Amino acid sequence: MQIISDPGQMQALAEKLRLNRQCIGVIMTMGALHEGHLSLVKLAQQTAGIVILTIFVNPSQFGPNEDLHKYPRPFEKDASLAKAAGVDYLFAPDADCIYPEHYQTTVECSSISSLFEGALRPGHFKGVATIVTKLFNITKPHIAIFGEKDIQQLAVIRRLVKDLNIDTKIIGAPIVREENGLAISSRNIYLSSQERDAATILYKCICHAEKRMAEHEKDLDSIANEIEQMITLTPGCRPDYVSFVDEETFEPVITTQGNKTYRLLLAMYSGKVRLIDNAKILA
Ligand code: AMP
Repeated sequence: MQIISDPGQMQALAEKLRLNRQCIGVIMTMGALHEGHLSLVKLAQQTAGIVILTIFVNPSQFGPNEDLHKYPRPFEKDASLAKAAGVDYLFAPDADCIYPEHYQTTVECSSISSLFEGALRPGHFKGVATIVTKLFNITKPHIAIFGEKDIQQLAVIRRLVKDLNIDTKIIGAPIVREENGLAISSRNIYLSSQERDAATILYKCICHAEKRMAEHEKDLDSIANEIEQMITLTPGCRPDYVSFVDEETFEPVITTQGNKTYRLLLAMYSGKVRLIDNAKILA
């Protein structure tokens, strides 16, 4: 595995791979690699000949009161995990070569970015859309794999690829969970063992929604209320939002006409740690 930090070198190499008719698959991460990230690598290996993994803790997607400076950066460990997983190229640039002095161009996908995570984290999806566009230009992938763990981010990326005619196929990968149902996340390290146990309520809420669907409940809003109640009743937990949405537009859906898939979006605090989760629901 070759480690590259210079965007120009990465771009030249990607161009050479393309000229050699290699199919490039990219996985974009902020590092602190875990089983979730490695599942994307596996999927990339099944669909592309060359796998590029990027690690970049992108300052522009963090709000002023978020965890940019304390975000975990175990680079040596990440590099060995990536190598063991069979990554071909690890691209890990410094922030000042990605955002040099006088940088002033951004990418914004307006409507989806103003809802849910976007409403609570102003500027977050502008930061995401900008870095993803830049990394597309630097790594020139035929295929890019993103996790459904960050489902709104995936919807923003699908929209931006369509809107800006970016010639990259986007693949969504299923959420990897711990045995107790907790979705694996780099931020889970902030949870105490008590908070971690309490956080398993998220998966119980998803199971509750599936059970209510099996009972043919059509009123999605009342199921969302039941779920908020389940979270509120869990010691140390507080719901942030619970909503069923249209998978493409992320507009909230109150009742279902039946036999359609929606996304159930969940965000809550366990102690001071904010967690998100989601599930595809046939309702
Ligand atoms: P991050 O490093 O948190 O920005 O995540 C990088 C990529 O890994 C994103 O596409 C995430 O959606 C994906 N990812 C993170 N956690 C998981 C998980 N538990 N299962 C599947 N994909 C994940």
